[in-house]
Amino acid sequence: MLTPAVSEDSNQPVHLEASGPVCGGQDPLDSRRLFGLDAEALATRMVAVGEPAWRGRQLAEAMYRQRVAELDAITTLPKALRGRLTAEGWQVGRPRIVQVFQSADGTERYLVECPDSEGLTVETVWIPEGDDGETGDGSDPDSPETLRAPSFPRSLAERVGNHEPQTEFGQEAVSAGDWPHSRWHATLCVSSQVGCAVNCRFCLTAKLVFQRNLTAGEIAGQVVAVFSRHAVEVGRDRVNLVFMGMGEPFLNYDNFMGAVRLLVREVGLSPQRMTVSTSGIVPGIERFAAEPPELRPKLAISLNAPNDATRSEIMPINRKWPIQSIIAAVRRVQLRPRERVTFEYVLLGGVTDRPEDAAEVARLIRRTGLPAKVNLIAWNPGPGINYATPQPEAVEAFRRALIDAGIPAYVRKPRGRDIYAACGQLKRTMEG
Ligand code: SAH
Ligand code: SF4
Repeated sequence: MLTPAVSEDSNQPVHLEASGPVCGGQDPLDSRRLFGLDAEALATRMVAVGEPAWRGRQLAEAMYRQRVAELDAITTLPKALRGRLTAEGWQVGRPRIVQVFQSADGTERYLVECPDSEGLTVETVWIPEGDDGETGDGSDPDSPETLRAPSFPRSLAERVGNHEPQTEFGQEAVSAGDWPHSRWHATLCVSSQVGCAVNCRFCLTAKLVFQRNLTAGEIAGQVVAVFSRHAVEVGRDRVNLVFMGMGEPFLNYDNFMGAVRLLVREVGLSPQRMTVSTSGIVPGIERFAAEPPELRPKLAISLNAPNDATRSEIMPINRKWPIQSIIAAVRRVQLRPRERVTFEYVLLGGVTDRPEDAAEVARLIRRTGLPAKVNLIAWNPGPGINYATPQPEAVEAFRRALIDAGIPAYVRKPRGRDIYAACGQLKRTMEG
């Protein structure tokens, strides 16, 4: 077992690697698993087995666009070639959904099994309609921040009477008929690691400690597997992707960005529909700032406290990278027109939800001068964690204080709490 990256004892130095080992210690070049390789790498593999390079593009099309999960079902390849590759041990090897938990509110939590990993599963969450966390920064060119798409497929929306889209800031809603081709408006939350080394005191994933990094294919595979389940039409359905599941994406940087490259180049998603959340891993934020705009998702920082003293209590990682060091790194990110940095703020009842906390958060964010918004998240309970969920009035007062200070602020809906799918509730519930 690996030790937590952040010591329990505040006097101890913290040891953190900015990037960990590739999944399972397996060298991807030796693997005969195809899923996770981009078209170019697939072409190299095909040339190595005596096939023309364009077979790589065919494989990429089949695995990432048509979502074919078995080599034998890739009908664009000649049958004899499929047979030969299979006999030689090649496989698609896409992660599989092995269990589904369904919430009364429509949220689904999946256990996704990584191939060749002895039943090891990670968690992925599908939130129809989203939780109000990923809209509203106006950075999406074809989706004005005032507009929201219908939440469910039309027939289901009509059945449950949920065809009146809500808006943020009370602005005018679109009617379901304004999005004639979009069947989904959903948020998909994916994991980047099994467990987490960061050890935030309020988070259930931290209890698992860090187990291993996911590969780029395992991260992107969660998306393709869920898209396949819901028959998502890329480019038509409005699905936001958030790297906010289990793990700290910036402590698995290469695999995280490898997944983004696959999702953008091979699956066809826009990085402006993706948000990565970090607890504030400064070297990761600095690398992220250097990514080209066509590959860079939006950035969310888990602020969670109004000052360094409180933040170090609830997020010991703050002792290594305090708030101003994070802000300095965030400043290096060249935001797109109308893009905002999101600050996530978990409200812990009686600890971080007081009026004076709100005032301090407002001052802190205003002083950065960054185009920012705040996502407020009422703490979701978990066994063995001694915090309290804030009172709804405290949440609303906090939001109001930020708005009054001129900072856009949203309250995330606690989606899927009944199935342990809400923020910070993900832990491995089944193995093998
Ligand atoms: N490791 C990354 C991303 C995953 S956590 C990060 O920390 O940013 C995603 C979000 O869930 C973070 O903003 C985190 O602060 C929040 N979170 C963790 N535990 C929570 C809980 N029990 N209730 C509400 N939010 C929680
Ligand atoms: Fe890890 Fe994020 Fe949970 Fe902190 S909040 S322990 S960084 S998953």
